[in-house]
Parts: sequence; C-alpha cells; structure tokens
Amino acid sequence: ERLVSSEENSADGSIELSLRPQRLAQYIGQEKVKQNLQIFIEAARLRNEALDHVLLYGPPGLGKTTLAVVIANEMGAKLHTTSGPAIEKPGDLAAILTALEPGDVLFIDEIHRLSRVIEEILYPAMEDFVLDIMIGQGPEARSIRMELPPFTLIGATTRAGHMTAPLRDRFGVINHLEYYTISELEAIVERTAIILETPIQGNAAHEMARRSRGTPRIANRLVKRVRDVAQVRSDGTISVAIAQYALELLLVDDKGLDQVDEKILCAIIDMFNGGPVGLDTLAASIGEERLTIEDMYEPYLLQHGFLQRTPRGRVATAKAYQHLGKEPHN
Ligand code: ADP
Repeated sequence: ERLVSSEENSADGSIELSLRPQRLAQYIGQEKVKQNLQIFIEAARLRNEALDHVLLYGPPGLGKTTLAVVIANEMGAKLHTTSGPAIEKPGDLAAILTALEPGDVLFIDEIHRLSRVIEEILYPAMEDFVLDIMIGQGPEARSIRMELPPFTLIGATTRAGHMTAPLRDRFGVINHLEYYTISELEAIVERTAIILETPIQGNAAHEMARRSRGTPRIANRLVKRVRDVAQVRSDGTISVAIAQYALELLLVDDKGLDQVDEKILCAIIDMFNGGPVGLDTLAASIGEERLTIEDMYEPYLLQHGFLQRTPRGRVATAKAYQHLGKEPHN
C-alpha cells in the first residue's frame, strides 16, 4: 500500500468521514488560511450574502476537501461536491448549477482538469450568477440565459499553475495550503487516536508525526495501521516501541520519506550521477508518471532540501546523499 496516494481505501471509507474535522476550530494548522477565512465567512454572514469564490491549492492530502466541508458548515450552507473530470458535457454542469439553492457551496476538486468549453460556461456563472446555454442545433440554435442563485464555488487543485488565468482570476479568495509542522501533525495523530479510541503515548504520537511527510492524510493512515499492529501484537496501546516497530514494517523512514521518494533520489544519484536530470527522463527511468512526481513527491523533497530544481533538471543535494548513506561522485 502506498502512503502517498489520493484515493481512500474503501474499507476505511466510513472512518475517513468521521476523522474529517467539521468546523474551523477542529481544523488543525494552516493558521493564516483559517484567520483569513474566518473574517471573510463572518463578513459574508453579517451581510447575509454568499461567500466569495474560494480557490484552494496545494499537494494532495493537505486538507482541501476538508476545508470545503468546514467552510460550508461555517456558512450553514449545503455542500455539493464534484470534480473537474466528472463534468464532461455542458449539460452536466448545467444540471449541477441549476440544482443550487441560494448560498449553497459547490466544491469542484481537480478544477484544473475542466475542459475549455465547461470553463467558459463557468465564467458568467461565477461572475454574474447566470447560465447561458444553447438550445437546438444549426440555424435553429439559440442561446437562452437562466438566472442562478448566488452561490460559492470552492475549487481545489494540486497546483494553481495548472489552471488557466481567466479561471484563476475569478476567485476572490486564493489560499495555498502548506505542509504541516511536526507539532501540528502530532495534534492530528492524537485527535485521530482519540476518535479511534486508541490509547497513544505522547512520544509515539511525535514519532508518527515525524514520519507523516507533512501530510494529515498520511498521519491518519499511519495511525490506523499502527493501531492494527498495537492490537495484534500488544494490548492495543500505541507505545513508542510499537510505533517504531510498525513504522519499520511500513517502510517509512525517519524523515517521512517513503519508497517512491527513495526511488527518485536513488535514481538521480545512481543512474544520473546526482543530476541534473530532466523530469521526463527521471519519470521514465523509475516507471512513474511525470505528474505524480511533480504533484505528490517533488514538492516535499524540494521543501525539505533533498532535491533542487535547476534550469537543466533535478539535482540531488548533499542532504540526499547523506540521508541515503551514499558517497558523492566527483
Ligand atoms: P485533499 O482534499 O487536500 O487531498 P483531504 O481534505 O481529503 O485532502 O484530507 C485528507 C485527510 O486528512 C482527511 O480525511 C482529514 O481527516 C485529514 N485532515 C486534513 N486536514 C486536516 C486538518 N487541518 N486537521 C485535521 N485533519 C485533517
């Protein structure tokens, strides 16, 4: 099982739901984002208006969907959820938009994957709350305009750079989600352990937080797997020893790097003499998609100084050599 993946394990689906914070006060970390949103939400509520459209961007598993749920709850609004690839035809979008009630929140995940045609229908809907649709074909075709209720669009994307400028410009609130600090992840691990009714020692929570790659989704997954080990091999309590034993079984190292992270760094060092190597070449040599590396792996490796981006490609840093116990080539 991969630790970094955007799909939820279906057997864990209902647990996933109960782990999701429902209110801003339960949402750990992302302090700046929360502060801003709190003001905008309160102002919109005072004026009895829909909240301005919100764009959330950042790597997978950092809490974009969760934040959409939280915003809808704080606004006391109904949440409708869909994703860019799910909206194929103009009719799909029209059906979604015409089902909205005043003040509702529409969440579109992977919004950068909307087609151009759909995007163009979305512009007037976002700006003026109107829907222009074509009826009929050929010379008979005519456009009709429908009024929509005021609503809030929340878009999520792994990188804002993937989006077209006109779409991006139509969001009044743009928030970047950052990787979480170890103490924030520790709080998330502890919160999850409480919800799962699993006793956990403080140092064990810290150890698991350190290995969560800055990502709440990974932290939650680790809690669930370590809990399994604690129940089978011990009395159910997550102690430091149990956590360390389980984390070794799961092959997460003490910097939170998983097998794919290591594969990426090892390939750059062993096959390309430390780099620079282009992303496509790198992706092909380890059998991963370029986009997967770009969205899920590279941002963490860059931020933690294992990897550098240069105009000629990716380079492994001294820290990467050291971490993997490799000698620099000359
Ligand atoms: P994204 O939409 O960015 O891929 P999600 O919103 O699905 O990420 O978050 C993944 C999981 O991590 C959620 O199930 C949620 O339980 C947990 N989570 C995310 N952000 C937080 C947070 N700030 N505090 C507590 N748990 C969080």
